[in-house]
Amino acid sequence: MRVLITGAAGFLGSHLCDRFLAEGHSVIGMDNLLTGKVDNIVHLAGRDDFQFVKHDVTNYIYIDGPVDAVLHFASPASPIDYLTYPIQTLKVGSLGTHNALGVAKAKGARFLIASTSEIYGDPLVHPQVETYVGNVDTIGPRGVYDEAKRFAEAITMAYHRAHGVDTRIVRIFNTYGPRMRLDDGRVVPNFIGQALRGEPLTIYGDGLQTRSFCFVSDLIEGIYRLLMSDYNDPVNIGNPNEMNMRELATLVSEMTQNPGGLVYQEDSRIKGDPQTRQPDITRARTILGWEPTVKLEDGLQRTIDYFRSHV
Ligand code: NAD
Ligand code: UDP
Repeated sequence: MRVLITGAAGFLGSHLCDRFLAEGHSVIGMDNLLTGKVDNIVHLAGRDDFQFVKHDVTNYIYIDGPVDAVLHFASPASPIDYLTYPIQTLKVGSLGTHNALGVAKAKGARFLIASTSEIYGDPLVHPQVETYVGNVDTIGPRGVYDEAKRFAEAITMAYHRAHGVDTRIVRIFNTYGPRMRLDDGRVVPNFIGQALRGEPLTIYGDGLQTRSFCFVSDLIEGIYRLLMSDYNDPVNIGNPNEMNMRELATLVSEMTQNPGGLVYQEDSRIKGDPQTRQPDITRARTILGWEPTVKLEDGLQRTIDYFRSHV
């Protein structure tokens, strides 16, 4: 296959490039470097089967030659990033998704959109199953991301129903691993960066809010299987291993032997920060035969090792 991956210089996009190339496909990686970095894909430079195109996908996307699959991953993803770039986030989820779908339609390609657990908002159903329609504050600070992704899902289903495009929707739950930006503000790089600098780990609010963390290799496997399946409805991909932020901070502190301890920052929680989050992965298990395999301690150790060489 010849595959277009948008957001290719980002954390997930760069791992997807590696995976598709390893499977023998050729990859066009597209990115405007808003929140990603060339470092993440520099190891692919010079390969015949990889091409990088610096382009903002909110503008018309022109690709020469055939395309068999489009994976649309371009979007700021960390809360700090989408608060910094609220308009860009809305545009890449709406105009960018429209353009990426346009490529898929014109080329007769499969299309996969990177959606998110955020479309469930601050969920009233736990764990979150794909049939749950969510609890989102449209005008809250996180609304720029949540609504962009909800629109992206809606237009994806519209292209599927109206134009017959063969689409996939993956709802990604918190994923971590090498190639995250140390300063992207998400909790795993924040905690590891602080720990490696010997600083206290910053817990926002009372730290009793929960997340469920998936290691990047597990996520990429789930996405690959979803693209290769024939399933058009949304699929949650994430690790159901739920924990609160105090527990995560304690674990990172122990693993790094950080003397800095923990510090509570009551006011740092962004309005609408979900209180709980855990994927129900019954659908992924049943349809894709997929489930996560990497234990949190192992994934964190690999991430700590990566960041150790980058702090
Ligand atoms: P990231 O910020 O590392 O990567 C996003 C990439 O998109 C960056 O390289 C950025 O430069 C690029 N980009 C942004 N706007 C663009 C535009 N207009 N044109 C071209 N490129 C643009 O984030 P990530 O964690 O790799 O997330 C990738 C995708 O997965 C996003 O769509 C995100 O919403 C989704 N997602 C990620 C997670 C997670 O836990 N990592 C969870 C849910 C959903
Ligand atoms: N968080 C924290 N300390 C930090 C960064 C984040 O306690 O230094 C909390 C944040 O308030 C949220 C959770 O960790 O409840 C996960 O935040 P993240 O930014 O990683 O992503 P989210 O899941 O909110 O999109």
